Amino acid sequence: MKTLQRTLTIIKPDAVRRNAIGDIIEQFEKNGFRILAMKMLQISKHQAEQFYAVHASRPFFNTLTDFMSSGSLVVLALEKENAVADLRKLMGATNPANAEDGTIRRKWATNIEHNAIHGSDAEDTARFELSFFFAGYELAK
Ligand code: ATP
Ligand code: MG
Repeated sequence: MKTLQRTLTIIKPDAVRRNAIGDIIEQFEKNGFRILAMKMLQISKHQAEQFYAVHASRPFFNTLTDFMSSGSLVVLALEKENAVADLRKLMGATNPANAEDGTIRRKWATNIEHNAIHGSDAEDTARFELSFFFAGYELAK
């Protein structure tokens, strides 16, 4: 049986600064993702630390959370069959040097840290990340 899945994506500050919002959202729609909810916002350093808490012990945690709080983000709740894995595929590898042609990171990422887009990496993290940015009524669709 095919089941719909939801995932959370973030257009990161580097991509917003490069005027890539429209192009990236077009990729979501062309690839069959339904946009359930969307907003543009800036988060604080503290909020970025909460969102990326799983990476707290990584050497890049401080620069990552500085970067993610450095400018506007666009966050979207997306729905599709197999949304989590399909979005990761559309994003491409974390390091754009390894990202396949046709992926969002191949086109828009600058380097492994400034890599244009975030996508949830599993169904349980998607649930946490969706509820981090959206209230229940915003996802009641
Ligand atoms: P994201 O979680 O943003 O979708 P990802 O799942 O591909 O990306 P993670 O391993 O979860 O990659 O790392 C989270 C983010 O931390 C990356 O997107 C990138 O911005 C940054 N990052 C990851 N590895 C490195 C690194 N070696 N050096 C600097 N920044 C890194
Ligand atoms: Mg990740």
